[in-house]
Amino acid sequence: MNKIKSSIVAKIFLVCFVSVHVPLIALVTFLSLGFQPSALSIFGLVLSATLVGTVLCLYAIWRLISPLNRLASVLKRYPDDKTILTLPATAPDEIGTVTDSARSMLLKVEDLTRKLKHQASTDFLTGLGNRRALMERMPVIQAHASRSGEAVSIILFDLDHFKRINDEYGHETGDNALMAVAEAVKDHLRPYDYAARIGGEEFCIVLPRADMTSALVVAERLRNAVAECVVEPLAKGRITCSFGVADARQNEKLQELLLRADAALYQAKHGGRNLVKSAQSK
Ligand code: GH3
Ligand code: MG
Ligand code: MG
Repeated sequence: MNKIKSSIVAKIFLVCFVSVHVPLIALVTFLSLGFQPSALSIFGLVLSATLVGTVLCLYAIWRLISPLNRLASVLKRYPDDKTILTLPATAPDEIGTVTDSARSMLLKVEDLTRKLKHQASTDFLTGLGNRRALMERMPVIQAHASRSGEAVSIILFDLDHFKRINDEYGHETGDNALMAVAEAVKDHLRPYDYAARIGGEEFCIVLPRADMTSALVVAERLRNAVAECVVEPLAKGRITCSFGVADARQNEKLQELLLRADAALYQAKHGGRNLVKSAQSK
């Protein structure tokens, strides 16, 4: 019995076997009930029993392979729908095995896609966003801001004399300094702010709903927090950053905004570093 349950071939064989014998079963039943049949009635009986057997056979086979049809349609729609919830419940036969394999394969594909998307938009060292993610995120934030009439500002900042840290204490200490700065950034973000490492030691924070005044406050707080970072064997205060702050104008392209913030950052560097400067208006 278990063999039949676990084999679609055995099930189809059983269905066909029973269906083919429906006319014979009908005839034997008819005769055993004591009827004296005429040739015409036997012909009529066998013909109707054949039809019934055929219909039963087709219906049973259709029921048996219907999970395969459902699976085919789910797989066909999957690239658009991205849903595997509608996959049929499985029987312990070959169709069940195919369905289970498809389900676990799709789950793996979904998991992998999620991981790849995350990796593609995340800076591996700091866990912040990367330049590519910033480029994608910024137009969405700006479009939202222009619909709601709210301000958007950015803070661009860069570690001071970072090359010297690498040169004097090694690349690993440099990496630790970058991670410490990123942690300070995370501590200062509101849930809807977005921070990215957009270059080796250059970061950008997007602040929705923040005008120049509030962005300058955030940048100043962050400047102090970075100066408090402790990374062995660096002396406290050795890690500092220079900041350029710019508030976005309506429909201003990210590249232009970054250029204005970069000019302010340049001023901060030339003003002696560990400073916050605001960008000129356009
Ligand atoms: P400034 O104050 O003018 O910004 O000087 P700086 O030394 O910080 O700037 P510079 O552009 O001369 O050097 C940046 C250094 O950052 C050079 C590069 O080796 C280092 N760097 C870039 N990416 C990484 C990284 O992922 N890890 C480490 N440890 N160093 C990096
Ligand atoms: Mg630097
Ligand atoms: Mg730099």
